[in-house]
Amino acid sequence: MEPTTPPALASEPLALTPAPGHEDDFAALFPREPTLDLLATGGTWFEGPAWTGEAEIVWSDVVGNRLLIWTPEQGAGILLEPSHHQNGHAIDSEGRLIAASHGERAVVRREHDGAWQILTDRHDGRRFNSPNDLVCDSQGAIWFTDPRYGIDKPEEGYGGTVEMDGARVYRLASDGTVTAVTEPHPGPNGLAFSPDESVLYLADSEAGHILAFEVLDGGTRLGEPVTFAVLDPGPPDGIRVDGAGRVWSSCASGIQVFAAPGDGAPAERLGTVPLPLRTANLAFGGPGRSTLAVTATSNLYRIETAVRGAHA
Ligand code: MG
Repeated sequence: MEPTTPPALASEPLALTPAPGHEDDFAALFPREPTLDLLATGGTWFEGPAWTGEAEIVWSDVVGNRLLIWTPEQGAGILLEPSHHQNGHAIDSEGRLIAASHGERAVVRREHDGAWQILTDRHDGRRFNSPNDLVCDSQGAIWFTDPRYGIDKPEEGYGGTVEMDGARVYRLASDGTVTAVTEPHPGPNGLAFSPDESVLYLADSEAGHILAFEVLDGGTRLGEPVTFAVLDPGPPDGIRVDGAGRVWSSCASGIQVFAAPGDGAPAERLGTVPLPLRTANLAFGGPGRSTLAVTATSNLYRIETAVRGAHA
């Protein structure tokens, strides 16, 4: 099915679900009358939203093997086909689009001239499983997860042989050096830094929780993980952090928002943004970096907030 945009922007009221005791502070994260704007539909498993301009959003049709683009003028269209089953995206400090490629089992980058380049596809001589999601830090390093979904799910990649002995998080330094920064985890997926990059959050879709790692040694190493939040319902997939340190996580019922970590764990859930479809990922962007682009199963949505994303 082709990606399509409704002829008129389909917008409906968004009924927020605050957690008990957080009615006011959760409502304060959104405009007075929040809306859910449907920008595109027609996918099987949309993922990896990223803002490539003030109003321009790209995202993955993972199963359809295409990279899609939405602009206010053109609606939805195809940016790259085949996309080699790209999944998560990030924007680096030069504004280049970085992608986690299931099919190429690599982290790839779109250069300023539009050409795509493989940045890394192996560690210690072994091919990655299928990089899923990634985040750029302020030093120019790219941190990415490497679960097996692109190998184990034939519709989400090109198959192949597993070479890694587990699914880890890796750090690709700006000089091209790749290091494994975690032990194996069941389903490492979304990543996001705290506003000052002192904490890296990891969503584990199989374990159903979000872990928090202290970032050590000048941003080159991670400490031991602590459980930040257990999602009910899960599973968490893509995650983002806002400027106040709150963690926004995708899940089966929409987006759950957790308070910034205090002195104790677990984190307190402030509420849920209920969406009609299982939600895979989200990204802050637009004017003031206050708008969420959200991929949920077959649909791409836009939600205005009253906060600012910590990072692109
Ligand atoms: Mg993901």
